[in-house]
Amino acid sequence: MNTLCPNLKCTFPKSIIRDGTFRRREDAKVIQRYRCKNCDRRFSRATFSENYRQKKRRINTPLLKLLSSGMSLRRSALILRVNRKTIERKLPFLAMKCRRLNKNYLKKYKGRIHNIQIDDLITKESSKLMPLSVSIAVDENRRTILAMEVSQIPAFGHLSKLAVKKYGKRKDEHFEGLTRLFQTITPIVSTEVQVKTDEHQLYPGFISAYLPKARHLTFKSERGCVAGQGELKKVHFDPLFIVNHTCALLRANINRLIRKTWCTTKDPKRLKDHLDVFMYFYNHYLLNGA
Ligand SMILES: [Zn+2]
Repeated sequence: MNTLCPNLKCTFPKSIIRDGTFRRREDAKVIQRYRCKNCDRRFSRATFSENYRQKKRRINTPLLKLLSSGMSLRRSALILRVNRKTIERKLPFLAMKCRRLNKNYLKKYKGRIHNIQIDDLITKESSKLMPLSVSIAVDENRRTILAMEVSQIPAFGHLSKLAVKKYGKRKDEHFEGLTRLFQTITPIVSTEVQVKTDEHQLYPGFISAYLPKARHLTFKSERGCVAGQGELKKVHFDPLFIVNHTCALLRANINRLIRKTWCTTKDPKRLKDHLDVFMYFYNHYLLNGA
């Protein structure tokens, strides 16, 4: 028995004994109870579970799959027959779990990633006047998503004047977003990694600061081939195909990233949560064909 007494002040946390069982109401599973002989603290196997005290643990896995397959929060609630608020509360919980699993998963490739592609995908928060940038890094050889970060950016093009008039000046946090992205990928990629990007002006500075030995190749960005799928390019050979294809997959499978959708992001934090859940699903289920 490798369980320890959960009482942090306990002087002999190993002195625990079995103390009967109980039947959990939510899923009718029999759960072992324990008692600490030293401090008399009583607890159960469930005390240590990430799902401790959750009332709808059976929906965790189906919800992860639905949210990574183009389903909206509301429709997921309808299909799983739970309240919309339950789903809203589940998303940050699932994301936290996925972030930990994603990190562990990428550890096994540490230093063995030799070719990566980086790009940014533009989406919006409530309105096009409040754009968000999703920075994404993928492994070119394995297609694994290495990191995704969300940052707010000011409106651009013909919308910029209107945006300032309506919402005031919007802070550009793209630099912070890319900082988080590079902080995540630098420890996992090989020091002499080859990085392919488009001609975005912020990339060279980050690459020379975080990956000084890297080889950076830039490519002119091309026009999209299908209306609404700007990421899939018309040219015969797209050097940034892997990252563009991943962006197209994100748009197809994360409801709030679909262009011209009714579903939009109301809170950039929740978009980050949704991306982390998708990253887990993509790296574990889609790429491994499970
Ligand atoms: Zn104890």
